This record gives sequence, C-alpha cells and structure tokens, in this order.
Amino acid sequence: MPQRAATVVGGGIGGLAAAIALHRRGWRVEVLERAPKFTEIGAGISLWPNALRALEALGLADTVRSLGAVEATGGVRDRRGRWLSRTDNAELARRFGHPLVVLHRADLLRVLTEALPADIPRSGSEVSAVRDDGRSLVVEHAGGESRPDLVVGADGLRSVVRRALWPDADGPRYAGYSAWRMVTEPLPEPPSEGAATWGRGERFGYTALPGGRMYCFATASLPAGSTAHTTGADTTAASSCEYTGLLRRFGAWPDPIPALLAAVPEDAVLRHDLYDLPPLPSFVLGRVALLGDAAHAMTPNLGQGACQALEDAVTLAHCLDGTTDVPTALRSYDLLRRPRTQLITRRSARLGAVGQLSWPPAVLLRDTAARLVPARATLRSMTPVLAWTPPGDRVTATENENENR
Ligand code: FAD
Repeated sequence: MPQRAATVVGGGIGGLAAAIALHRRGWRVEVLERAPKFTEIGAGISLWPNALRALEALGLADTVRSLGAVEATGGVRDRRGRWLSRTDNAELARRFGHPLVVLHRADLLRVLTEALPADIPRSGSEVSAVRDDGRSLVVEHAGGESRPDLVVGADGLRSVVRRALWPDADGPRYAGYSAWRMVTEPLPEPPSEGAATWGRGERFGYTALPGGRMYCFATASLPAGSTAHTTGADTTAASSCEYTGLLRRFGAWPDPIPALLAAVPEDAVLRHDLYDLPPLPSFVLGRVALLGDAAHAMTPNLGQGACQALEDAVTLAHCLDGTTDVPTALRSYDLLRRPRTQLITRRSARLGAVGQLSWPPAVLLRDTAARLVPARATLRSMTPVLAWTPPGDRVTATENENENR
C-alpha cells in the first residue's frame, strides 16, 4: 500500500495521540499547532483506567504511570468536611485493570511529543482554513498549504476544522460555572487522600501529584466571562486577582483547603469558564475526522475529556488500519465514537448540575443521597465509562452499528 499522508490540526493531547497512533501504522503525519511551543501551562490531569488502556495501545502507559501519583483513596465531602462517599483506588484497579493516575499536564504533553519523530509536531503553524477543492483536501496554515489523504481536526473547543466543515453546527454552550486550577508548592506533609468538597454552587477539590505537590481545582456558578478584571494581557496580575478571589471564596472551607491555598503561588492560578459542545450529527465528513474536544468537548466533572480524546485517537488509527478507503473507515470511527462520547458528555453535564446545586433543600437532598449510595454502586455505575478497551479486529460500519445499539 502506498504511504498515506495525514494532517493533524492541533497538537494537544488528542492530536498528538492521533499522530502517534497513525505514525506507528505507517502514515506520514504532520501535526500543525498554532502555539509557538509544545508546552502546557495547565495544572494536573486525571487519567482513568480507560485512558491508561488507550495509552497502553500507544505503548506509553508505563511511562505515563511512572510520572503520575496514585492515591489510595479519594472521595466527596460536604461543605463541613464530612465524607459523603469514598473510592478505593485499589478496588478501581482490581475492577478495571488500572488505578486512577494524576499527573501534571506538561509531563503528559512531553511524553506524547517525545513519542514522535522531531519533525512531525510543528509549532507556530496556525491553520486558517480546510477545504476540498474537488481534487484534494487543502489545509491552509502559517507555513503554506498541505494536501493530505486525511485531515484530523483535533483543534479543541473552538475548532477551525469544525467551523469550516460543519458551519451549521451549534457552537459551545456555557455550563453555568467557571473553574480554577492550580498546583501547590511541594508540601512537607501533603494530605493523605484527595477529596472534592461540595458546597452550594461551589466546589473545591484536591488530589496528589508526585513530589508532595497537590493539584487543586475549584468551581463556582457565575455568569460567563466574569473573570478577574485586570488591564491589558497581564496574566500574572490576572492570576493574582483570581487568587485573592479564591481566598475570599474558599479560605474558610474545611481543612486542608486553607493550607492548600496558602501553598499555591499567587501567579499560578488558571481560570476557565466551562463549556461543552451540543451533539454533532457526525464526527466525520469525507476524509476529515474530528477528534477530542473539537468533536465532543465536555465539562470536566467526570475527568474524561482527555481520556476520551485518547480513546478517539486509538480507535481512529485502528479503523484506518489496512484500508485505502478512508471515508468508509471514518464512518466506522464515527459509529464507534459518537454515541459513547455524547453519552459521557451528557453524563458529565448532569453530574456538574448536581455538584453545582445551591438551593439549600436540594443540597441537603443531594448530600443525603450521596451518603446513602454504597461505594460499590458508584463504582459499578462507572463501568460503562471505565471498562473501555481498544477495538480489536478491524471493524466495519455494520458491525459497529450493532455494537452501539
Ligand atoms: P485541546 O487540549 O484543546 O488541544 C487543541 C490544540 O489545538 C491546542 O494545542 C490549540 O492550541 C490547537 N489549536 C487550536 N486551534 C488551532 C488552529 N487553528 N491551528 C492549529 N492549532 C490549533 N480531562 C481529563 O481526561 N481529565 C481531567 O482531569 C480533566 N480535567 C479538566 C479540568 C478542566 C478545568 C478543564 C477545562 C478540562 C479538563 N479535562 C480533563 C478536559 C481536557 O482538558 C480536554 O478534554 C483535553 O485537553 C482535550 O484535548 P484536545 O487535544 O482534544 O484539545
């Protein structure tokens, strides 16, 4: 079979993983990333067993695990710090083959970038348009034009590829709450277990990273765009404003939250309004496939956005294996990925709505219900999400249709 060429638009977790999977199957690949460098300023990221299985398929699971922290237990607490539910990571690993691993995003990005030959990821290569000129696919970018056999749109929530080829699709919808992320300095005695503390319209979570650092995240129900006000593009000043706001909001929450906040560098607070994507009727069009957030951006309540992007990448390469018929292979990819990711997007949105409840009787009911559900049942309810395995034999559209019923 002649060597085929793929252009991956976007060098985030999904795009890099897709490039690795395609490159290993003999494709000539380029990754066009608009950022000037392949780095992640982001904080931590949790990778669930399904993501580790996808990384296994890429030959990277052991490396990623060695860079992450595995906590023995974690769970959800109420606003007074009392446990509502707890998860045993050993039980998770026993059921699903891997534990929950948390690492710094920069480390994950580095592993993915280093798994590719140095000339494949191209930073400073913003893509401005994708079109079919009748003879071939054309990707216009900062370095010129590419005419690949396959385009993978992995360019995130506000995807240019999606807007170009699905012009009528609805844009991202605001979830109604904003999120902060930060990493503490190394702590001499980090908390022994992670927790998400649920308040009224506010949540604060923390989990261990290697080296005694803690990854913290918080949410609050707010109108879109209500970030800290600073003049110009001074990100350090913006972060300090956010930090002050966080102290005001969460500084009196139960231990160890005040101590964790005290260990966060003021200039290291990231703030993002949270969006998800209304369901697309298809993730593919001809020889173009959307992947990761470009296809199915979801709220982070289940910690599954990147996990699903990794699943997408492995599945896409699998569907394209051994065939020259790219459009048919992409239809198989769509049938395998769309129902699953759209279900998880809905589930994540529902969990977020519950987590953000603020009316006191509803909060009381939520907390009581969370306390009553046995840990086993919570874990069992996660089975459809966590028990994913990479597709084995080459799949066809017909087989997948049956599978997704
Ligand atoms: P992105 O990471 O958005 O990458 C897209 C890339 O495309 C970027 O590098 C961008 O610069 C580039 N790009 C964009 N436009 C262009 C263009 N025109 N030309 C060239 N390049 C372009 N997921 C988890 O699995 N676990 C978690 O714990 C988790 N926590 C989260 C916490 C928060 C607060 C948030 C907001 C999300 C979280 N997620 C988590 C979700 C996760 O971050 C995303 O789902 C994941 O990063 C998606 O990867 P992606 O590669 O599809 O998109």
